[in-house]
Amino acid sequence: MTETNGSLVIDSHCHIDGEQFDADRDEVVQRAKDAGVAAMLNVGTGDPHSDDFRRAVAVAEKYENVFASVGVHPHDAKLYDDKAENHLLDLIKSSEKVIAWGEIGLDFYYDHSPRDVQIEVFRRQIKKARELKLPIIIHSRDADDETVAILTDEFSLSAKGFAASGDADRSVRSPGIMHCFGGTPAMAESLLQLGFLISFAGNVTFKKAENLRDAARVVPLDCLLVETDCPFLTPVPLRGKRNEPSFVVHTAQFLADFYGVEPETLAAATTKNFLDFFGLKILRKVAEPQRRKVI
Ligand SMILES: [Zn+2]
Ligand SMILES: [Zn+2]
Repeated sequence: MTETNGSLVIDSHCHIDGEQFDADRDEVVQRAKDAGVAAMLNVGTGDPHSDDFRRAVAVAEKYENVFASVGVHPHDAKLYDDKAENHLLDLIKSSEKVIAWGEIGLDFYYDHSPRDVQIEVFRRQIKKARELKLPIIIHSRDADDETVAILTDEFSLSAKGFAASGDADRSVRSPGIMHCFGGTPAMAESLLQLGFLISFAGNVTFKKAENLRDAARVVPLDCLLVETDCPFLTPVPLRGKRNEPSFVVHTAQFLADFYGVEPETLAAATTKNFLDFFGLKILRKVAEPQRRKVI
């Protein structure tokens, strides 16, 4: 197995509440721990009128190093209404392990919900998240221009406000995470300007993904995260297997080689970015001895 030489990595986006993990979830979480994965953010998806999101939060409640995010995916935007929103709000209130709103955004590749509905629901969820001072997790596929336009509209004013006021509020300074980045270098640059962190999944390791590596080239280490988005997008050399959080070390190793840095440098940077972003002090205690060990 690929090692990160004792440095801890964080899977910033996974879906281990799904039925693909029902048979062996305990082992999956243990394997992640054994591989040096300090924490996982389990992103709830599905029908907001069902138990889907409750399940995602329950997984975070069960395992110490698993956190949760809730928000309606663009695929299911057509299901978003007041009742759905109240359900999400109740779940957020129910557990301190819910640390973000998402994944939300636009998916014009599958078009499972009408585009105008996706846009309206994306904006509505951004506003709700901001009211709660929760960071957002963005999903964007084949909708680069529209995603950037909406985020610029929603966040560029507050970024200026931040600079002027010196407000240290993290949710204002860094509004969220662009997950499983799949856009152009120009899109990455626009998002970085707005203060977003950019997360790469296993597909950045794929042979044909030169476009993703072009984008990775413009992302500095202090704005970078890694994720599995499991059970999908299994990184090289494990393609064909079900993806799981322990495999994030392969993506971290690949990106370290790509950037020409030591694996522990990449691991320490992405872990620090995640912990700082979410203000997770508990985990920092876990991460610091590892960082000292590296030095
Ligand atoms: Zn996604
Ligand atoms: Zn996802």
